[in-house]
Amino acid sequence: ENQLNPTVRTLEPSATLKINELSQQLIKEGRDIIRLGLGQSPFPVPDIVVKSLQKHAHEKDYLPVRGLQALRQAVADYYQSRGLDVDAESVLVGPGSKELLFNIQMACQAELILPAPSWVSYVPQAVMLGRKVSYLPTTMDNQWQMLPEQLEQLAPPGDEARFLLLNYPSNPTGASYEPEQLKALAEVARRQKIIIIADEIYGETRFSGQHHSMATFYPEGTILSGGLSKWCGAGGWRLGTMVFPKELRRVQDTMAVIASETFTSTSAPIQYAACTAFAGSSEITRYLEQSQQVLALIAEYMVGSLRSIGLQMADPVGGFYLFVSFEAFREQLSARGINCSDDLCNILLSETGVAVLPGSDFGLMADQLFVRMAFVDFDGARALDAVTAGHYEP
Ligand code: PLP
Repeated sequence: ENQLNPTVRTLEPSATLKINELSQQLIKEGRDIIRLGLGQSPFPVPDIVVKSLQKHAHEKDYLPVRGLQALRQAVADYYQSRGLDVDAESVLVGPGSKELLFNIQMACQAELILPAPSWVSYVPQAVMLGRKVSYLPTTMDNQWQMLPEQLEQLAPPGDEARFLLLNYPSNPTGASYEPEQLKALAEVARRQKIIIIADEIYGETRFSGQHHSMATFYPEGTILSGGLSKWCGAGGWRLGTMVFPKELRRVQDTMAVIASETFTSTSAPIQYAACTAFAGSSEITRYLEQSQQVLALIAEYMVGSLRSIGLQMADPVGGFYLFVSFEAFREQLSARGINCSDDLCNILLSETGVAVLPGSDFGLMADQLFVRMAFVDFDGARALDAVTAGHYEP
């Protein structure tokens, strides 16, 4: 115990793991569990991408540290086709965006600014590296959107670098931003000399309205984080990407050094297959459209059902998550001694068999009665077929 790294020793295993363990145990005991905990894409990897992986299974060599050149070009073309000025030089490839998000914090001595709630791993990563974290609270009534005023109210720029980690569509809330909101945030970030890491990994899963990138409005100060996990159904393949503005080339170079001394390069066959994914095709376009249709239908069904029993939530516009308030039941829950989201999740699981994650895991105060529900426990392949045939019902 004494020989463990004291910084890391203080980290608790995430509630996600605890809930999963308890779910497994209940399943072993023969209980039926509705798994709304784990957040991975319900859809299969598109056939054309799987075929590309099979074709390249023999690729065995280490690839360049920054990524296969053809893949960096494919990623640049992908962003170009979405209106962003990206060239292959500005792209880094890594084994999942999670790893790249950790490495960027390692590369820079920067304070991390986060909306609350936000994704579970940003803070533990910052803690492991001894970085300072500040939360900017957002609310359900305001669609979980951060306001430019909140950035304005931060201290004026000093010597220390600052990263705002903005994830949209958001895990856990399903919220996103419209162009004018991104523009307003960009203007303040520019004045405040805040670099924005735009975690747009759910961009292609936006099912209501259209995804717009922060890089459009703040090209010189936005680092774009993405990858195959969410839109290509390939979380387990481990392929993430990061795109840097020319102004931040030094950060990118430092990350390449970290990569060269740690993971070396991402799995070769996966990188070749990722070229096919990022290059796009009519099959992939169809896959994305159908995935969005399915997600929209399930979200609508879930939101309707949950609201009909008195729960509250903001309408999600992308991703596969709902962030649900049990505040309306605070008195009844309190009467049973349940006053925090952790206890709420435990009782939901043990009494109803529904596995969800506590809002506290995402940076809310423990006594805020919110839970995250991931709506991914269904047969994604069948849903895509059914929506194609025009008769999908959640
Ligand atoms: N960012 C967000 C908001 C996520 O939800 C996830 C995955 O759950 C990741 C990043 C990491 O994705 P990956 O490491 O699979 O690219």
